[in-house]
Amino acid sequence: MKNKKCESCFMPFSKDEGKRESEQYCSYCFKDGKLVYEGNDVNEFKKRAYKSMIAKGMNCIKAKLFTWMIGFAPRWKK
Ligand SMILES: [Zn+2]
Repeated sequence: MKNKKCESCFMPFSKDEGKRESEQYCSYCFKDGKLVYEGNDVNEFKKRAYKSMIAKGMNCIKAKLFTWMIGFAPRWKK
């Protein structure tokens, strides 16, 4: 079965406007053959994701919701 959501940020691939390089990750999380954020600190990742969503002009309520959703992505499950 194919993944329908990014394993790192939980964004549905249908919302991914970039050119996806990976079956597991979206075009924002995985670029030029590697993960953009290679650490394993979900809070650090959330901070970065939140900032980039705000930078893209996303409304901050939405950005907070999507940031919260990241915690449920497979990459951060222990
Ligand atoms: Zn992603």
